[in-house]
Amino acid sequence: MIQKILIANRGEIALRVLRACKELGIKTVAVHSTSDADAMHVRLADESVCIGPSPSRDSYLNMHQIVAACEIAGADAIHPGYGFLSENAKFAEILESHGITFIGPTSTHIRIMGDKIEAKKTAIQLGIPVVPGSEGPVTDDTEAKKIVNKIDYPIIIKASAGGGGRGMKIVRRAEELSVSLSAARSEARAAFGNDCIYIEKYLEKPRHIEVQIIGDGAGKAIHLGERDCSLQRRHQKVWEEANSPALNAEKRKEIGEIVANACAQLGYRGAGTIEFLYEDGEFYFIEMNTRLQVEHPVTEAITGVDLVHEQIRIASGGGLSISQDKVCFSGHAIECRINAEDPVNFVPSPGLITHFHTPGGLGVRVDSAVYSGYRIPPYYDSLIGKLIVHGRNRIECMMRLRRALDEFVVDGIKTTLPLFQRLIESADIANGDYNIHWLENYLAEKTKNRS
Ligand code: ADP
Repeated sequence: MIQKILIANRGEIALRVLRACKELGIKTVAVHSTSDADAMHVRLADESVCIGPSPSRDSYLNMHQIVAACEIAGADAIHPGYGFLSENAKFAEILESHGITFIGPTSTHIRIMGDKIEAKKTAIQLGIPVVPGSEGPVTDDTEAKKIVNKIDYPIIIKASAGGGGRGMKIVRRAEELSVSLSAARSEARAAFGNDCIYIEKYLEKPRHIEVQIIGDGAGKAIHLGERDCSLQRRHQKVWEEANSPALNAEKRKEIGEIVANACAQLGYRGAGTIEFLYEDGEFYFIEMNTRLQVEHPVTEAITGVDLVHEQIRIASGGGLSISQDKVCFSGHAIECRINAEDPVNFVPSPGLITHFHTPGGLGVRVDSAVYSGYRIPPYYDSLIGKLIVHGRNRIECMMRLRRALDEFVVDGIKTTLPLFQRLIESADIANGDYNIHWLENYLAEKTKNRS
């Protein structure tokens, strides 16, 4: 059994993991950079270790310091949260060789899914539908032309090592192909140290729908339904909901079963998410994330399953706590990602939070690690909290969201809260009628009207 977990993260997710550990009676070790000495995850953990200076590469990404902290504190497992080292196969491998339990999948599965071309090949083998395109890396222009002849324009060139919405190029006309290919290669080399690229059909108006799975690592896997994360800005999710307003129970069951069977065949261990684009009733695999997602609470809200409990249980060898036939989907949930950013131009707004008041009441959950008097350091991402609202149906959920947004107070810095207050007034949002371009178009329209 796991007795003590080191949480290799910060912010709201460190707190999220800490809460699950407390419930399970597991001791916690927080790690932090020098600028996070006052952070809430440090205050609430049983022990804490400073692992280096402010920049992430010297602290939260410093594998050796983290392993040393784990050994000093006598922790037997590490939870990586999301971001930082959560999808780093080398880190998982180092822990495997030190006899420390990594709360996540095997390093082999992280490696396969971290390479988009390998991931796509694996998806095809497992019977998951993918976006039409090249079967492997595209190394020369003649090969690229052959593929485009089959799938037709528009296409999207993607970096095999890409991530975080970077390293993608849309090509609409034959004249642009050569230039775009070489630009994509050199950008990929500069950003990811790997110029391997591939081609996919560019879908014009898809939704982003992802399926949550958990596997026991021994051939059993279940799905916990989908999340619709189509509302994105610069390929970054802003608002997520479960269920997707675009799916019915039959479609949900169909894609859920495909994904759960695939993960069972793979012998996948822990929590994972398979991301799809969904257009005209068809799903197209884009990638698998081998970790807990930022937006996992909406799935927890509609299923009642605590995903971090499951992760810890699986890592301890206890298997899944629930079988597929016991998973019930109840009501509707929406998550708003609240960032310390200007709500109009999205410029980061770090600084002192002079007053912080969170909403409460039935169906309202706030995952945040900030407090009144907390100074947001400028070194990390700008997420300061997540507002998750649950209702018996989407209408009730939206009513509750409006009320919760009105109650939320963050003084001293700018936040994206006003953006959500505007979004809920939109008829398209009320109807669930949006795709992955909707938010960018909406924001562009607002900017035009202002100028
Ligand atoms: P990353 O790992 O960088 O997040 P993804 O492959 O998950 O990259 O894609 C991120 C986003 O890019 C998707 O949510 C979608 O908005 C857009 N995208 C990716 N592939 C395509 C495609 N074939 N057609 C249209 N949009 C795409």
